[in-house]
Amino acid sequence: MRYRIFLNIIIFLLALPLTATLAYKDVYVRVAIMQNESSFDLDISGSYQIVDAKNNSRLYRGRNLKTKVVVAPGGFYIGELNFKENKIIIRPRHPDSIRINGRRFRGDIILVNKKSGILAINILNLEDYLKGVLYHEISHYWPMEAIKAQAVVSRTFALYQTIANKDKEFDLTCDIYSQVYGGRTSERWRTVKAVDKTRGLVIKYEGKILPAYFHATCGGMTEDVANLWNMDLPPLKGVVCGFCQKSPHINWHYDLALDELRSILNNKAGYKINLIKDIIVRERSKSGRIMKLEIITDDKKINISAKDFRNLIGPHVIRSTNFQIEIKDGTVKFQGIGWGHGVGMCQWGAYFMAKKGAHYDEIIKYYYPGVKIGDVD
Ligand SMILES: [Zn+2]
Repeated sequence: MRYRIFLNIIIFLLALPLTATLAYKDVYVRVAIMQNESSFDLDISGSYQIVDAKNNSRLYRGRNLKTKVVVAPGGFYIGELNFKENKIIIRPRHPDSIRINGRRFRGDIILVNKKSGILAINILNLEDYLKGVLYHEISHYWPMEAIKAQAVVSRTFALYQTIANKDKEFDLTCDIYSQVYGGRTSERWRTVKAVDKTRGLVIKYEGKILPAYFHATCGGMTEDVANLWNMDLPPLKGVVCGFCQKSPHINWHYDLALDELRSILNNKAGYKINLIKDIIVRERSKSGRIMKLEIITDDKKINISAKDFRNLIGPHVIRSTNFQIEIKDGTVKFQGIGWGHGVGMCQWGAYFMAKKGAHYDEIIKYYYPGVKIGDVD
């Protein structure tokens, strides 16, 4: 018996270096957490350094800070200190000891003095980034397999962005145009667990990182990515989704006065419309989403893609491009289905799949047919 315990210990020790060599390579992401601001509150607990981003030389070393950062000509004021470099790095000794406007962040913060104001970029490990994302994308009370599916999807999407934006100043923003990211403050026990349980796993198609788009509720069928962006990928061609019919976002409606619609089109898109007489759906995709709309005015016909139309009016009010239009008493009444662009994983579909017992990999392979799930190389 004692011999067996001894043998087990030997096996355990032998396995250790092997696990170490298989450790997940650190991948870092650059997230723009602030743009065009003239000042912000900075709070650091413990030791920190201010480093010149150009040559990595140390400009200042300090301990515990609670002050305001203000943009200065060619540089910054951090409290009383004036830095004349236009790109500096704030590097705390402890990984999650920076607060910006009260919100806690892991990793380093780069500050760039731009013509438009301060650009703040948070540089951190991809896994830590995901921990600050999931809470904003789905509820941390959701079934674990649905949260794990979202972790793999969000990791893949972020990694895809780092590859696509590698020559740009940052990889991701912290709003709905990338993935909503709230830093260390947004971490929750169950979402952190889902990130850890799927550590390093990403979605690949033919060996390449998939642009793993996702959305809240598809309403019955996901959309072919080719209808929205210049991409042609078999896993993003669209699938029938019979899972999200009970989603709280299955239906939406929105009323907009014709006068208001006219002023949005004129002011935001430069049209010169006097009077809107009718709005006609000219083309729908296979999934039922509108591709082209025609706006009939008193003196012309305007063709506009439903995608642009949705973005102009506001993607939170026109929640999808799958809608019916009725004009009544000077008001356009939109009756729509689903929430989001419709490409890739339907989050509420994933929720109901997980409720029925599906595992995270089954959910992913359902919404992205033909893909493989594997480690980040
Ligand atoms: Zn769905």
